[in-house]
Amino acid sequence: MASKRDYYEVLEISKNASADEIKKAYRKLAVKYHPDKNPGDDEAEAKFKEAAEAYETLSNPEKKVRYDQYGHSAEGMGGFGGFSGGGMSMEDIFSHFGDIFGGGFSSGANFGGGSRTRTTVGSNLRVRIKVTLKEMYEGGLRTIKVKRQKLVEGLTTKTCPNCKGSGVEVRVVNTMFGQMQSQTTCSQCEGTGKIADNIPAGADKFGLKKVDEEITINIPAGAREGIQLSMRGKGNDAPFGGVPGDLLVVIEEEKHPDFEREGDNIHRALYISFAEAVLGTSKEVEAVVGKVKIKVDAGTQSGKILRLAGKGIPRLEGSGRGDMYVHINVWTPQELTPEQRQFFEGQLEGGQMTPQPTGKEKSFFDKVKDFFN
Ligand SMILES: [Zn+2]
Repeated sequence: MASKRDYYEVLEISKNASADEIKKAYRKLAVKYHPDKNPGDDEAEAKFKEAAEAYETLSNPEKKVRYDQYGHSAEGMGGFGGFSGGGMSMEDIFSHFGDIFGGGFSSGANFGGGSRTRTTVGSNLRVRIKVTLKEMYEGGLRTIKVKRQKLVEGLTTKTCPNCKGSGVEVRVVNTMFGQMQSQTTCSQCEGTGKIADNIPAGADKFGLKKVDEEITINIPAGAREGIQLSMRGKGNDAPFGGVPGDLLVVIEEEKHPDFEREGDNIHRALYISFAEAVLGTSKEVEAVVGKVKIKVDAGTQSGKILRLAGKGIPRLEGSGRGDMYVHINVWTPQELTPEQRQFFEGQLEGGQMTPQPTGKEKSFFDKVKDFFN
């Protein structure tokens, strides 16, 4: 590390080179030391990496400022991250600066000499499932049906004749820097290096066939809308059987007719009669699971909200449960018997039922505010 060259020196530019000049300088060196042009030349490869590392820092405004101020010692400060110091791999270089190399040079799939065994990877499978509030409350197992690509039995393969198993096609292309080799993914085997020898019925050229499969997933207690459960290896099988993809299950909340969920809290309405509001009562109301007893005090106003601590949904992160809120609504009778009518008419004249707020009743707006605090 002590002998590390100055990045400006590496790119052969002055300290006040513009972003454009930095890019041009790097492009020039990248072309000069490109591994395709210098097969088996370790020194060229080292220079190629050195230039990429210099460019990685100097092309990033934030890193450049730190480098200008502290030089290579800034790299120990954690500000550089990633690949500096430890050196970048060829794959890093091609994946990060693919735009510099232009058409075809970004793959970098096969650097480091010779062909190597490729591991194919299956694609992820994403499904959405509707989950009831009760299932979210209790958690539990659920078996779902998925259509996934599965590797068929009895598939035999042979080395791809087009790329000889390397998975890449090498072509000579004319660029503004002269003739260069370009590597692209083999069109015949799509980079796998293999082709099927015999394709069993119903399978595609990679030996994959769509099948219906039942998979049991575990819905955690406290699950909520939008969370994603991932099941490693339960996605699509890989071409010719490599590493299968994952199954991603996205949870959707099924609307409950009586409950409204707000985070881990649940809300429900409760209608009581005029007489119950006046005289007080106790009620048993449905919770998400089971029932809860609540006491309605005499003289309860419509709109009162009762909080039942810990009767909400279990917390997915952390412990405990949210709360349950019961919104009391006093039902005003709409049809009266002649006797009832006479009774209420008497009250109008007597004036006992005239509203007499004490000011201690929380206003509608206060209640709303309480919820969101
Ligand atoms: Zn091939």
